Amino acid sequence: RADRPVVLGCQGIERSFGGLRALKGVSLEVREGEILGLVGPNGSGKTTMVNVVTGFYPPQGGKITLYGDDVTGLAPHKVAQRRVARTFQNLALFKGMSVLDNILIGRHVHMRPSALGALFYWWWAEREELAHRRVVEDVIEFMQLQDIRDEPVEVIPLGLQKRVELARALVSEPRFLILDEPMAGMNQEEKEYIARFILDAREARGVTILIIEHHMDVVTAICDHVVVLSYGEIIAEGPPAQAIAHPSVVSAYLGE
Ligand code: ADP
Repeated sequence: RADRPVVLGCQGIERSFGGLRALKGVSLEVREGEILGLVGPNGSGKTTMVNVVTGFYPPQGGKITLYGDDVTGLAPHKVAQRRVARTFQNLALFKGMSVLDNILIGRHVHMRPSALGALFYWWWAEREELAHRRVVEDVIEFMQLQDIRDEPVEVIPLGLQKRVELARALVSEPRFLILDEPMAGMNQEEKEYIARFILDAREARGVTILIIEHHMDVVTAICDHVVVLSYGEIIAEGPPAQAIAHPSVVSAYLGE
């Protein structure tokens, strides 16, 4: 693991809400091509960590690097421009819009207006549009969403909605993908489906992945490395079987 380049580096990350110290100097590294599982009981700081890394909450201490560049305190869109995409714990799809339109939104990070572009607008738009369409069609096929592409997103089952959200993240062509409980509320079959897509995304697209996940069977099956948070601190870290077997993890989960 140590010989792979560091994609995300976090050193001593601090974040409080009022008097509550949600992150107490968290340091972790996500390495290229790996699937890193971030686990821990509810309220341990996992989502806060993701919000800090993606620029939604500036950290109050510590340093964040992406591919070696210091990105501490950058705004979310600036972080996204470095080809970082995320999905949310609670679905963030646009009701009333089709599956296809929801996925297209994921391309916006690549739609940069330019003065030259405006001058040659039609030529530019057509060229851009073709490029976007190719990527979007490719992802729709990869995620097997062809049959429901024109459905309003709110009428499809939850498992498929989660898949649409993952597709929206993938069309931004991320190098680094952060998934916040992508399998919440899913049945076993849907979980296995998503797990396979995550593994395929890593294989086929070379995406590095950080995943927050509560299902320990999934974590063991797909993660290369696991970091366990409890009350804003890392209490265990290592290969899945080893990290999850740590006594403090077992008691942390039983105590939930
Ligand atoms: P997890 O994702 O592990 O369930 P969170 O990161 O959501 O944990 O929360 C960690 C702690 O920070 C919790 O005690 C939570 O109540 C608190 N917290 C998170 N976000 C906010 C916020 N925006 N305002 C106040 N407290 C927050």
